[in-house]
Amino acid sequence: MMRSILAFGLLLAAGPGLAQSSLPFDKIPGKLPKEVVPSAYRLDLAPDLDKLTVGGREEIDVAVNKPVDTITLDAIDLSFDAVTLKDLGEKATVTLDAQAQTATFHFAHPIPAGPHTLAIAYHGIIPETPAGLYYNDYDSAGAKKRMLVSQFEATDARRAFPGWDEPAFKATFALSVTLPADLMVVSNMPAASEHDAGTNASGAKLKKTEFQTTPRMSTYLLVLCAGDLERIHDTSTGTDIGAIAVRGKAEQGRVALEAAVRLLPYYNDYFGVKYPLPKMDMIAVPGNYQAGAMENWGGLTFIDNALLFDPKASSEATRQVIFYVVAHEMAHQWSGDLVTMAWWDNTWLNEGFAEWMDAKATDALNPSWHFWLNQHANKEYAMGSDAHSTTHPIEIPIKDESVIGQAFDGISYQKGESFLRMLETWLGPDTFRDGMRRYMAKYAYKNTVTADLWAELSAASGRDVTAMANSFTSQKGIPLIEVESRCEKGQTQISLTQGRFAINDPQAPSQTWQVPVSLALVGKEAGAKTILVETGKATTTLEGCGTVKVNHGDVGYYRTAYDHKGYHALVQAYDKMDAADRINFVTDSWALVQAEKLDPTSYLDLLASLKSETAPVVWTGALASMREIDDSLRDSADRKAFRAFAVELLTPVLAHFGWDAKPDDDSQTKLIRAPLIAALGRYGSQPVVEESRRRFAAFEADRNSLSPDLRAAVIGNVVRAGGKEEFDKVRKMGREATSTEEKLRYYFALATQTSPELTDEAVKIALTDEISNGRVGRFLFEVMRQADDQTRVWHDIVEIRGTLLPKLPDEFRGMALPEAAGFTDKPAIGKELQALPEASSNEGAKIATGKALESIGWKVHFKTKLVPATGKWLKSRNQRNS
Ligand SMILES: [Zn+2]
Repeated sequence: MMRSILAFGLLLAAGPGLAQSSLPFDKIPGKLPKEVVPSAYRLDLAPDLDKLTVGGREEIDVAVNKPVDTITLDAIDLSFDAVTLKDLGEKATVTLDAQAQTATFHFAHPIPAGPHTLAIAYHGIIPETPAGLYYNDYDSAGAKKRMLVSQFEATDARRAFPGWDEPAFKATFALSVTLPADLMVVSNMPAASEHDAGTNASGAKLKKTEFQTTPRMSTYLLVLCAGDLERIHDTSTGTDIGAIAVRGKAEQGRVALEAAVRLLPYYNDYFGVKYPLPKMDMIAVPGNYQAGAMENWGGLTFIDNALLFDPKASSEATRQVIFYVVAHEMAHQWSGDLVTMAWWDNTWLNEGFAEWMDAKATDALNPSWHFWLNQHANKEYAMGSDAHSTTHPIEIPIKDESVIGQAFDGISYQKGESFLRMLETWLGPDTFRDGMRRYMAKYAYKNTVTADLWAELSAASGRDVTAMANSFTSQKGIPLIEVESRCEKGQTQISLTQGRFAINDPQAPSQTWQVPVSLALVGKEAGAKTILVETGKATTTLEGCGTVKVNHGDVGYYRTAYDHKGYHALVQAYDKMDAADRINFVTDSWALVQAEKLDPTSYLDLLASLKSETAPVVWTGALASMREIDDSLRDSADRKAFRAFAVELLTPVLAHFGWDAKPDDDSQTKLIRAPLIAALGRYGSQPVVEESRRRFAAFEADRNSLSPDLRAAVIGNVVRAGGKEEFDKVRKMGREATSTEEKLRYYFALATQTSPELTDEAVKIALTDEISNGRVGRFLFEVMRQADDQTRVWHDIVEIRGTLLPKLPDEFRGMALPEAAGFTDKPAIGKELQALPEASSNEGAKIATGKALESIGWKVHFKTKLVPATGKWLKSRNQRNS
């Protein structure tokens, strides 16, 4: 999810049989009994967009494998009007289990084994919370309009229709929908027919749209969107591709459409299986959306700021977001939709793969973006949680629905991506692709587990991929490679010691992985090599003598610690390394400080030495660490001195890049100006605040005067340095904005205000309908993250939780309060969180609360090391400078 699509095609409901996953169907985890198996759904829906109700008639062809007198399937918040076993004319009574989210049909006589058809009449509601079949109200030329949207992943198809809502129960879907005739209705497949269906209560003409039958697929991939929509389209390798948006905005889908047209032949070739559906639509949802995008087969949905590009208001960052989110959801059309993980414990097979594939495709089709450099931040994000005791293996046990949200995290996505990049580099890209082609061909329309992928990669490569790969997907944590080297007879002798890299986890068990370690001598990269470190110790040599850089090219998922001599040699040789090795060295160094394996002052020295660094990616990493240091100094008298140091360090960097775009800017440069300007604003650079105010005043008079690339930073700086007047002004701009990208830009700028009165007011925005349900949680996290008085913001959020939590989808509701608390380093907040009933309301909430408590505990501990060391370093630096 976060990005996905859907499609369908001509044919090919390949039945079970032939290629079998290594995990047989009856052993796949899940709650529903495996003795009744659906094969085809015929679903006829009549949504009422005024009353916000939906009536449904459903027929499901099932195979009963042994006689049963009850049938249990998934259903939540649905009311049953009649249930019959159509072929035998047998009526059922229905019992509901809201906790288990199931309905059980009880029959008076046992149903014999064999094929049967269930006929179900039911009705339900259409909520505003973005889960199931929901509505999204939006402004269009001053009028309120309503769009119908579906979001079924992970477990919300059961809110729209009763069914076997687990990914292994694949079936075909024939959907028909009755709605007002003037609405465009979109699903996975093209419409097979449309006809008049009378009028509704308010006299509007109705139309019934019958869609072609989908191929075999999982319930979570079904899609239904309807509204006052427009579509632009193009054809790529024979497939009709559409970009759909609310009336007046479809043309803003052009950038995404062009991306999809370029990506489709790339993927057709890469996977070796042609995109199997007759069309692929990308639908922009105007703001109320759970994730970033969703890969419904043939009918991908996106929050509109990840699909629409407005040349007047969209930034360069948005242009790149659109490309890689489209690339991500399109990768899912194969990995996820055509071949689907058997259960949510293998979510990474969908998400880690799509995350890696989107980066690979984006990099291949836009070489000037240097996209892998940007992805370094993804790896850091994964490692940030994977170093702690609360992490989990890539293959994550899923006890029940409440835990599934935990599987959509940095470990499944970004660790999955980083690991696959390392694996692909180790096997070679052609071999890796050949293995993927075997996997896609073998398991099309079926479900798999991780072992199935390793088996095909092993067959393609002739190597034992399983042992190496399992060491990363079934074990949690990050390898640590400790390096010692010496020069001997014109060669560099290197010894490597492997262990586990852990933060705040002294009890972490010792562990080893099979790590492909790449090494080179700085300046002699032609002699680079990769060795597989399989145990605790390894030795190797490099020709010539010099400074050893491990994780050469930054392709590996591990941390590196050099001995004292090696570390300082790299500091000396820093300028001679490529950007990928520099960012790897800088972020590893900061991580070693967090793991208490490197003195904070060594890292501060390294930061101070970056004055002449011009690679934007290195600044992205350095700014992130500076932010963490600044946060830990929140209550310290030394914060002022640290901020002065930050301004002194960053001012020449901004001067180097300049405020305004230059014709020969590379893509990286376009992306780094805003973070630098925002950081300088946060650390109190008066010239930057003044320039931000000047540009904001011009922007108020003429909205075209300020580059979209700078808007978020400039407006944030003005709000942060301002008071109620600026806050109100920007809030009004947010209220009036008609695009999600702009709206969120204004509201997130409000989150930069740190005064108590205005953070109170910011939190209360969550009680209004100014920010969609799908984004309100993220907004509050941002207020929390930035605030000076986090305890106050925490109390504000706790106070409104009764209104806030129902706005969030079930799967994320239990995680919201722990996530907010986790931004702080206040043990009292941790205690208050624990005392809230919401913190232990289900298994998912308990896990999230455990993570928040660990995070708070670690920050408290880390501060005792970092804050005094930073204070001392700043003092001695000031003495040296004075
Ligand atoms: Zn995804």
